[in-house]
Amino acid sequence: CGVFGVWGVPDAAALTALGLHALQHRGQEAAGIVSYDGERFHQHKGLGLVGEVFGDSRVIASLPGPVAIGHNRYATTGGTHVRNVQPLYADYEFGGLSVAHNGNLTNSATLKQALVKRGCIFQSMTDTEVFIHLIAISLYSNVLDRFLDAVKQVKGAYSLITLTPNDGLIGMRDPLGVRPLVLGRLPGHEVGNGGWVLSSETCALDIIGAEYVRDIEPGEVVVIDETGIRSLHPFGDQGARFCVFEHIYFARPDSVLEHVPVYEARKKIGAELALESGVEADVVVPVPDSGVPSAVGYAAQSNIPFELGIIRNHYVGRTFIEPTDQIRNLGVKMKHSANRAVLAGKRVILVDDSIVRGTTSRKIVDMVRAAGATEVHMRITSPPTKHPCFYGIDTPEESKLMAATHTVEEMAKAIGVESLAFVSFDGLYRALGHNGRAEGATRYCDACFTGDYPISLVDKEGNLVH
Ligand code: 5GP
Ligand code: SF4
Ligand code: MG
Repeated sequence: CGVFGVWGVPDAAALTALGLHALQHRGQEAAGIVSYDGERFHQHKGLGLVGEVFGDSRVIASLPGPVAIGHNRYATTGGTHVRNVQPLYADYEFGGLSVAHNGNLTNSATLKQALVKRGCIFQSMTDTEVFIHLIAISLYSNVLDRFLDAVKQVKGAYSLITLTPNDGLIGMRDPLGVRPLVLGRLPGHEVGNGGWVLSSETCALDIIGAEYVRDIEPGEVVVIDETGIRSLHPFGDQGARFCVFEHIYFARPDSVLEHVPVYEARKKIGAELALESGVEADVVVPVPDSGVPSAVGYAAQSNIPFELGIIRNHYVGRTFIEPTDQIRNLGVKMKHSANRAVLAGKRVILVDDSIVRGTTSRKIVDMVRAAGATEVHMRITSPPTKHPCFYGIDTPEESKLMAATHTVEEMAKAIGVESLAFVSFDGLYRALGHNGRAEGATRYCDACFTGDYPISLVDKEGNLVH
């Protein structure tokens, strides 16, 4: 998901809509904005892209006020239903409260069971609502203490933006900083401490002309109000385990994650792949869009021409976000076309970010061959995806992950390529600026590749499912 929040700027909702538009790649199922005008909350949410939900200027006009938060939904829990669309809003003892959340709680089913026993009534299927109930029933006497009480009970990956009437805008990253959150500032709004922006990625600061101030630190809580910006570290320093897959695939290439420009990192991963598993060929072809920066790096390193042998239709969303297998299968054909002029008679190196189920790869390889390629070599910029993510990226259960049930050789056969190679762990970590995994791994989560889950999977261990 993508989260975005603006504090102390006229027409905060309009800026939030722009920010969500720049974060569209983080979730395409639904979008929502909640604003606060000093007296009342206003909200609008809908299924679809940001442009579809907020395209009508009357909608933005119905969200007045100098503070707003927004969310792009990418369903990992709760399914596609409008009542699951965030930001969630609730009335409780201290007035209104709205929360936007990116990530997944790993103990939400366990907490929910306990909350329902105590009489809480749930309206949605989202983790976020668990969080709202925890705040509502907390015995502390102010909002910030209740917020802290709630986050101490949840486990998982969560970048949160919370909008309160009197206690400001509260931003937080989970104790290990698995999901990203950055702080920005719009110049010209310093009087009254305005102009603050919270965003999943820096690309959404750029679109509104905000300056990047810094990353929110793992476990850090920031509270923004008229008096200034305060920072708390209720969890102390537990080390950082940022999601390495944000670098490989999820984030937009023009974003900067933890001071590493995503585009550069992806180019370097491509170069590492070329060094590790180079092969003679005539063209390097990215599977667009996710394979493009790394294919640029691969081509430069190998001195094999980069060509657009696959053309992407931009009017369909990311294939894997579509909820059913049937749609996913249809989606691939709608999304990619082979460019015969580039491929006919050529030995082709295809570069992509990951093989999850293997269905996309199989279809793309078939298409490239049908367009006349004489050899197809697949190069993947992540290690094999062998384990599901429980921290906010939608991967299927283990049995459906091709790399969990096949060797690399078997995968090559199933996908139909002459050769298949994945970047090594050391190559990946070198591309991110470390001396291999031994040095870099403690800074990242790479559980979907290694099975080394840095946050306990409480619901899973208790056999509770969402
Ligand atoms: P598959 O191997 O499942 O057919 O599709 C892999 C493609 O889906 C990759 O090219 C990649 O761009 C995209 N993808 C990226 N991240 C994810 C993810 O987290 N989950 C899934 N299912 N697909 C992803
Ligand atoms: Fe990212 Fe993979 Fe960790 Fe999920 S399991 S947070 S996708 S690195
Ligand atoms: Mg892809």
